[in-house]
Amino acid sequence: MRKTPLLKAVTTLLEKADKPLSVPEMQVLLVDQNLTPNKTTLYRMLDKLVTDEMVEALLLDPKVTYYEIKTHHHHHFRCQGCDTIKCVDDPVLETYIHALEEKLAAKGLKVEDHHFSLNGKCNQCI
Ligand SMILES: [Zn+2]
Ligand SMILES: [Zn+2]
Ligand SMILES: [Zn+2]
Repeated sequence: MRKTPLLKAVTTLLEKADKPLSVPEMQVLLVDQNLTPNKTTLYRMLDKLVTDEMVEALLLDPKVTYYEIKTHHHHHFRCQGCDTIKCVDDPVLETYIHALEEKLAAKGLKVEDHHFSLNGKCNQCI
């Protein structure tokens, strides 16, 4: 992919963000850098970054896709009041899922991946 100023700005945004970002959120942040890409351009760029395994697309909300830099495996909490997303990284959970996978493997079910997210309200919205 050509290293355009927009591509560089988008990857920097995602690297610096402490939470996954949606395309509308990225557009707001890019305006601060005098960049005004349309949604189609951004979605196309993000699709390519997902294909290249640089970025992960998170399906936390049926209406909005959130993006984050691909790092280690983890899950997410989404506040239904204000759409805040928090990364949830819990080794105990993963150990349990691993044990479950072994149980399922014994029944002939090979788990290759798992996805889920937690929904609720953040402390601002309770
Ligand atoms: Zn909230
Ligand atoms: Zn995350
Ligand atoms: Zn997991």
